[in-house]
Amino acid sequence: MKFETAFTVDTSSIKYGPGVTREVGYDMKKFGAKRVMVVTDPNLANSEPVSIALESLQSERIDAVLFDQTRVEPTDVSFKEAIRFATEGGFDGYVAVGGGSSMDTAKVANLYATYPADFLAYVNPPIGEGRPIHGPLKPLIAIPTTAGTGSETTGVAIFDFLEMHAKTGIAHRALKPVMGIVDPDNTRTLPKMVAACTGMDVLGHAVESLTAVHYTQKPAPEHPGLRPAYQGSNPISDVWAARAIEMVSQNIVRVIEDPSDDEARSRMLLAATFSGIGFGNAGVHLPHGMSYPVSGMARDFVPEGYPTDHPLIPHGMAVILNAPAVFRFTALANPGRHLYAAKLMDVDISDADPGDAGELLAGAIIDLMRRIGMPNGLSAVGFGPDDVDQLVAGTLPQHRVTKLSPRPAEAEDLRQLFLDSMTLW
Ligand SMILES: [Zn+2]
Repeated sequence: MKFETAFTVDTSSIKYGPGVTREVGYDMKKFGAKRVMVVTDPNLANSEPVSIALESLQSERIDAVLFDQTRVEPTDVSFKEAIRFATEGGFDGYVAVGGGSSMDTAKVANLYATYPADFLAYVNPPIGEGRPIHGPLKPLIAIPTTAGTGSETTGVAIFDFLEMHAKTGIAHRALKPVMGIVDPDNTRTLPKMVAACTGMDVLGHAVESLTAVHYTQKPAPEHPGLRPAYQGSNPISDVWAARAIEMVSQNIVRVIEDPSDDEARSRMLLAATFSGIGFGNAGVHLPHGMSYPVSGMARDFVPEGYPTDHPLIPHGMAVILNAPAVFRFTALANPGRHLYAAKLMDVDISDADPGDAGELLAGAIIDLMRRIGMPNGLSAVGFGPDDVDQLVAGTLPQHRVTKLSPRPAEAEDLRQLFLDSMTLW
């Protein structure tokens, strides 16, 4: 086998600042769009960020059509509804206003309206065919209203495949928005639990991409076109991930305790973008891979502050519940990286042994989780030891991310990791 010797860094162009949502019309006009689909969810349909975006587009004489039927944690069914709307609407541009759900829905609507295909054609294998995308999509500008997914910088869209109770996605550079408009005014009204969960997603992205297998330890692609977006850790993604870990550690408790703390809130939003640039090129690993069945199997847990009519384990919560057990397990493969991550979370590592790395990092994460009100393990969101087989079965197909673990995890390892994640403190 030949090992990889190259990596690429792709990201959206970013515009940051309080109030920059008002410039979306100007920016969209530069891309030449005349008729734009504005994608959001029902809870945001009448919100200030959406009305400002619509006004800005209209002031540049761009025909802006609102689609407000994004589902929070989208499904294949909700994606198909957006695809139908996009296909019938004849749009030459897209704007997403919302969290990862709205941004991902806009990416997928753009893809299938531009290059129509059976729904599973572009979906990640083994669930879908993973067909490559051979040309550019219409311009998409993403305006995040949560400090979380970093979806404004990545070519990834995640959804729940209902028949299989499994989360999967579509990943390709072509899905990436042309621009992310990162406006701290848009996260002012975030409910506490949403801010906490999305912040834990940012931390997961950053620590996972920093500790992911190094790109030179992965097989070289047969053709440059087959090089995946998730390439493994590399010197450029490391910079973004490391800074994001520090920013989350220093600011998330401040944001939860005082949502009017503009400085901390702005830094959390920037941290989400920073970690998006990192993981969008390096990838994430086991905490994300294991989170997909956790979210996909939600039965009756409804978190406070989430305006939803269905049981839901928010993505960031599902990720962080598995993280302490995973990092204790993966630290053996690369203690230096895990110690570095703990240090970035303000742990004193001056006397630490390599053997302490997993425990120190897991301890720092658990400490933050407790301070922001995360549940105490998978048992607190409705899972028990009897669910572990099904959770493992839902993780095994997530090759795209689990193969980036610095230490390979077989089914037996995953079983133990889920058991170790039942209660954290
Ligand atoms: Zn995530």
